[in-house]
Amino acid sequence: MPRPANFFRTLSGVPVHYDRSSEPGLGYGTRGQTWRFHCTTAFQTKLRRCFQELWAVCPLGPANLILSAGTYVDKPGSHGLGRAFDLDGILWNGKTFITLSYPHDTRFYLAIEAVFRKHFGTVLNYNYDPAHRDHLHVDDLSPVGYNATHRSRVLFLQAALTHLFNHPVMIDGITGPQTDGAARDLVIALGLAQFADVNTSTKLHTLLDNDWLMLMDECVAAGFANIGPILQTPLDLLGAIYAVLEQELGSSAARKPIESAVTTFANHSDSEAFLDQFRV
Ligand SMILES: [Zn+2]
Repeated sequence: MPRPANFFRTLSGVPVHYDRSSEPGLGYGTRGQTWRFHCTTAFQTKLRRCFQELWAVCPLGPANLILSAGTYVDKPGSHGLGRAFDLDGILWNGKTFITLSYPHDTRFYLAIEAVFRKHFGTVLNYNYDPAHRDHLHVDDLSPVGYNATHRSRVLFLQAALTHLFNHPVMIDGITGPQTDGAARDLVIALGLAQFADVNTSTKLHTLLDNDWLMLMDECVAAGFANIGPILQTPLDLLGAIYAVLEQELGSSAARKPIESAVTTFANHSDSEAFLDQFRV
């Protein structure tokens, strides 16, 4: 399909920047640059409604900036149809959300993903495959809801059970007695069902699909609970750097010199004096 003539530069009142330029200072993790995001008008409407809802339900309200890896791309699949969007991050005052931060910002990530899952059938997240660790892909080629044979939806349910509702399960994308058992306990605890409504896998999967929007609302509420008005001080961000180094470098030889460079920076008397303001 040729590129749709329609494009957007903002969504629900918030500028959207492209942060995948190879030019210095404009790549992933920066504020990126203004961009024409081409997609169909119908898809743009869905995106706008999705972000409108996100601003309404997130305790931080509307963000300052949305960061995206793009919409239309001349290739097969949903991007080539102008019906896909890749989210890299969202910036609020006092809070930087970057999709790569899933390992140490899990609950916030899952709350945002739950909002997306109310508006888009296909959502590919951090756990889906290595290519989706640095962005959330959404498209509308499949219907919104639950499907126990869709790996991406099962992965989300398992992550939500584990990290939002204190029902830890194996996050492997495969439906089984463990996932179903935890999901059954959850829907009963949330008052969405009585045991007799969900006493077989088939009934449970049908209920999860039918009540998907309500379940997503519960995920949003749980994920955004207790985040407070200002979430990250520079001290928190320093802690996040160490968490990322551990996550990404593990026992690699590069970890020690990088960690010690960060520590040297943090321990400099001027840095320390600055960071001291944020210690409680
Ligand atoms: Zn994509």
